[in-house]
Amino acid sequence: MASSYLIVGAGVFGVSTAYHLIKKYPSASVTIVDRDSYDADSRVAASWDWNKVVRADYDDIVYCQLALEAQDIFKTDPLWQPYFHETGIYWICRSEYAQDVIDNYKKLGRKAELSAVPVDEARKMFSGLFDDADYSGVKEVLVNKTSGWANAGDALRAVTKRSIELGVKYVTADVATLKFEPSGRCTGVKTEKGDVLTADKVVLCTGAFTPRLLEQSAQSSGNADLRVGDRIVAGGITTGMTTLDDESYKRFAKMPVGVQGYTASTGPFIGSLPPTRDRELKWWGQKIFKNTQEVLPGRYISAPPPERDYGQWNVAGPLKQDIQFANNVFYGKNGANWKMEKHRICWDAFTTSSDFIISPHVAAKGLYIATCGSFHGYKFFPVLGKYVLQMLEGELSKELKEKWAWDRERPDPALNPDWPRWEMKDLLDAPPKAKL
Ligand SMILES: Cc1cc2nc3c(=O)[nH]c(=O)nc-3n(C[C@H](O)[C@H](O)[C@H](O)COP(=O)(O)OP(=O)(O)OC[C@H]3O[C@@H](n4cnc5c(N)ncnc54)[C@H](O)[C@@H]3O)c2cc1C
Repeated sequence: MASSYLIVGAGVFGVSTAYHLIKKYPSASVTIVDRDSYDADSRVAASWDWNKVVRADYDDIVYCQLALEAQDIFKTDPLWQPYFHETGIYWICRSEYAQDVIDNYKKLGRKAELSAVPVDEARKMFSGLFDDADYSGVKEVLVNKTSGWANAGDALRAVTKRSIELGVKYVTADVATLKFEPSGRCTGVKTEKGDVLTADKVVLCTGAFTPRLLEQSAQSSGNADLRVGDRIVAGGITTGMTTLDDESYKRFAKMPVGVQGYTASTGPFIGSLPPTRDRELKWWGQKIFKNTQEVLPGRYISAPPPERDYGQWNVAGPLKQDIQFANNVFYGKNGANWKMEKHRICWDAFTTSSDFIISPHVAAKGLYIATCGSFHGYKFFPVLGKYVLQMLEGELSKELKEKWAWDRERPDPALNPDWPRWEMKDLLDAPPKAKL
């Protein structure tokens, strides 16, 4: 066991890692460094959000099992339990998805109230809230009463606070580059202000910023193999909210999570989350985009906008339209009069297979990667750290080691509906026309 750990990034990957580390090794030195304080009013982390879907409805049996493990903790552990809401899920399926999920539950020996419901019958469920949704090309609707959602940011803050109480140090600083000793071993990080933090093991949990940080570190160290290449792409997705009026709130307060499942040829799945305590109902949109830019002279990669807050509150008209589209395909006339009040762009790290990367970095000893939630990582918050620890200690199962490796065969992104296919620059407002 190493005696000191530096975790860069305080989203679900970083915080879960710190929590599991300090629980297992109470006297180890565990430090998290993040550009935002953990209780800030606004953060750039994808994990920091009003709410996230927590479900085990996966056609991939590995994530189905992992999500069940995480959900058991969300449902029973007093640290997570206050943030989980078992509202059920209503998943409109255009493929064999429903049946695959049901089969996975069976194979894993899990009993749950879940079924594939014919469209006519499904439309009448939940007081007909989804009656006017888009059902074109739909095979059936997966209804799983045991899925739900979590108050994402509140849970993140609570688990971070608990980790600090257990002995984790939290440093608020922008990391500029990684630091290496002459042998090439990673020894820590250098912050934008010039401070150096060192540790035996450095774990990057930096989400969408990972490609950029490794690019900067490749330049400062001269080790070009640090770069992510085509392993990781930073992608953005728009979220939007409406505050429900009294009447709508009465109808929608007990709604399940809604998912519109599409296929790779049409686009990503989109979702709608039940109202928060402030009566805000949320959607995420269908346009997943890169933001390719020159981050260093001659180096073009996708990265969040350079502003400190990733420009996340600055949402262009076409992206707001994307939320309007989502509203329409879920609620049709039922939501036609809702006013969209809040919009945010959420940045995550994607891989072509949607698998995480939880792996040593092959180009530097002492450096590890644990991120790439690929648009679905939040729900695993309670257990991510357990697997990161297994990776750090060389104890990951063969299957997970291969699935989450830094170097592995990566499938063609054309097969992945949730791959960033747009460029952000093509989704911005048109510049005003010059007045002659
Ligand atoms: C719109 C949207 C909806 C989603 N919905 C769901 C959902 O319903 N359910 C679900 O399970 N998942 C969902 N996800 C996916 C999930 O949010 C992410 O996969 C997960 O939160 C990623 O966690 P992370 O720890 O890797 O990254 P993040 O949460 O982004 O955390 C990275 C942290 O690193 C810090 N950081 C980065 N670079 C630096 C630096 N140089 N210096 C200092 N700090 C740095 C950042 O400040 C940040 O706090 C969604 C994602 C998006 C975008």
